[in-house]
Amino acid sequence: MPTYEYICKKCVQKFEITMSLSEKEKGKNPDCPYCGSEEVIQVLGNFAILSGQTNKRSTSPVVCGPSCGPNGCG
Ligand SMILES: [Zn+2]
Repeated sequence: MPTYEYICKKCVQKFEITMSLSEKEKGKNPDCPYCGSEEVIQVLGNFAILSGQTNKRSTSPVVCGPSCGPNGCG
């Protein structure tokens, strides 16, 4: 199940809630586990993990033979 991050408006505590997508689609806000308030805001800040983090190795130019340079063969 996905985890959602919330911040409580009342006590300004950050907390994580795990709930199923169907629960989320109902638009239900969780209660703050610290003060019990329902006035919580979902945090949507941490999307860096999802947006194309490719760990490409730094490769040196491919040379296929002694007469070939980094711009190609010939
Ligand atoms: Zn709270």
